[in-house]
Amino acid sequence: MNLAVRTAARPTPAEIGDPLDPLAPALFEPLGVDGVYARTRVYEDMVERLDALISRHREAETEVLRFPPVMSRRDLERAGYLKSFPNLLGCVCALHGAEADIRGAADRHEAGGDWTASLSPADLVLTPAACYPLYPIAAARGPVPRQGLRFDVACDCFRHEPSRHLDRLQSFRMREYVCIGSPQQVSDFRERWIPRAKALADALGLAHRVAPASDPFFGRTGQVMAISQLQQSLKFELLIPLRSAERPTACMSFNCHRDHFGAIWGLRDATGEVAHTGCVAFGMDRLAVALFATHGLEPRKWPGSVRGTLEL
Ligand code: ATP
Ligand code: ZN
Ligand code: MG
Repeated sequence: MNLAVRTAARPTPAEIGDPLDPLAPALFEPLGVDGVYARTRVYEDMVERLDALISRHREAETEVLRFPPVMSRRDLERAGYLKSFPNLLGCVCALHGAEADIRGAADRHEAGGDWTASLSPADLVLTPAACYPLYPIAAARGPVPRQGLRFDVACDCFRHEPSRHLDRLQSFRMREYVCIGSPQQVSDFRERWIPRAKALADALGLAHRVAPASDPFFGRTGQVMAISQLQQSLKFELLIPLRSAERPTACMSFNCHRDHFGAIWGLRDATGEVAHTGCVAFGMDRLAVALFATHGLEPRKWPGSVRGTLEL
C-alpha cells in the first residue's frame, strides 16, 4: 500500500459526505423526493417532547390554534408572499373541468403521456409559515384589545427549496408564538423571547448564538429588502452549528413585521392605530435534528440534564 499517495489525494467534500447524513437511517425513511421524509418513532417522539417543552413555556392568555398544511391562496397572495418569496411557494393544482376532460388527462397518463398539462390552480396554497393564516382570523374579530393578543400556532409548512441536507426540508413543522398589539408590546414580546429561547437551547445542551438575520427575499430587489430588514433589526435567528461553525443552521427565528400584516388585514388597536405584529418561530424538525446531531442517536445515553428538560 502506498501511504504517500493515499494521503496526498484529499477527499472532496462530496466524498466526505454531509456531517448530518449518518443520522438519516435512524431518523428518516426516504419518500423519493429530496427534503420530504417519513419519520421514525425515535425522531417523532423527540418532536413531540420538544412540542411539549415549548408548550410548558407558553405565556398566560395565549390562544392556541392549529392549522392544516394548506391555506387560502387569496389570503397568501394578499399577504404579499409573491412579492417576497415567489420561488418558495407551492400551489395546489387539480384537474378541474368536465368528466371527459378529467378522464382525458388520466387516460393520457395511462398511455404514458403527460397528465399534468391539464392541471389548473385550486384556491389553495401550501402554507409556507405557521403565522400567515392567523392574521385574517384576528382581523375578523375587530379591534385588538388594549393588552394586545397572543397566539400559539403550528403548521406543517412547505417551501420549494429541495436540498439533500437533513436540516433543509421541503416539508417541515413550524411552531410559533405570535403577538399582535402596539409597537411596544411587540418589541417587549421579542425581548422576552430571545433570552427565553437561549435558555431553552442551553437546557437542551445545544451550542448556539443569536444573531441579526434577513429573510431570503427573492431576486435582486430582494437584496435591497434584506439589507433594510437587517438595518432595522427586524429579524434575529438562533443559530446552531449543525454542519459547520461558519455556516450554522437557523433553528428559531424572532421576527418583527412592524405594521406589514396590520395594514394589509386592517388590524387596528383600541385607539384606531394600525396594529404591529411579531412572531417567534421554532423549527421543530431542525431542533430535533440538532438534538440527535449533538447528543447521538440513543436518547437514553443523553446527558441527564437534557433528558430532564425533555422529561425523558
Ligand atoms: P433559512 O435562512 O435557514 O432558510 P428562514 O429564514 O427561511 O431559514 P424562517 O422563515 O424564519 O426561516 O422560518 C422559521 C423557522 O423554520 C426557521 O428558523 C427554521 O428553524 C425553520 N425552517 C425554515 N425553513 C426550513 C426548512 N427548509 N427546513 C426545515 N426547517 C426550516
Ligand atoms: Zn411568523
Ligand atoms: Mg429559508
